Amino acid sequence: VPVLDTAYFLRWLSASSELFRREGARLTALDAAVGDGDHGANMVRGFDAVCEAVEQNAPATPGELFALAGTTLTNSVGGASGPLFGMALRRTGKRLGTGEPVTPDELAAALRAGAEAVGKLGGAVPGDSTLLDALLPALDAFDGDGTFVAARDAALAGAEATGPMQAKKGRASYLGERSIGHQDAGAHSVVLLFDALVLAADP
Ligand code: ADP
Ligand code: MG
Ligand code: MG
Repeated sequence: VPVLDTAYFLRWLSASSELFRREGARLTALDAAVGDGDHGANMVRGFDAVCEAVEQNAPATPGELFALAGTTLTNSVGGASGPLFGMALRRTGKRLGTGEPVTPDELAAALRAGAEAVGKLGGAVPGDSTLLDALLPALDAFDGDGTFVAARDAALAGAEATGPMQAKKGRASYLGERSIGHQDAGAHSVVLLFDALVLAADP
């Protein structure tokens, strides 16, 4: 794990934005199969807005950066994903406090608090075929192995494991059993966010 300072997380945000641009069409195709086909566009718009916000406000600590990113996502994305990812980042930022840099353990605990807040806000539990099915395994792997690569790999395995799940939350749940056989778009966005943590470590 690299030094977790504000500069590192700024690189993470631009890597995320780049990955969403590159992979947006794939995310949208996943969402189109069981939802309304806007997930890629939502994440591209959201992370563009986040990058602009951090440029204009120059957060001084990782905690401030996460809080600003979360608020911006919530305010710039109309879909369910905006408020959910926004809550995750905002709560993570709040938990990080004013440390600079933060330690890997502090980051792990803060991300865990963010995931718990998403569960409370959206009512999803593991197995419901949502972004949590990638996020929770990623956090477990990070707790265990302590590397972003392990977390990213676990996120990917978790996202792929949503295929056979029946969606219980969000638009995909309207399809009932017909949602079975489709991987969750938001879970794949989580994979990209962890991919960006890996990329930002090695600029
Ligand atoms: P919308 O469904 O409003 O068009 P998006 O397409 O951008 O929003 O995001 C859909 C994603 O949001 C889903 O793939 C899923 O991962 C996530 N999601 C939706 N509802 C919930 C929920 N209640 N809890 C957790 N994640 C959810
Ligand atoms: Mg959608
Ligand atoms: Mg939508």
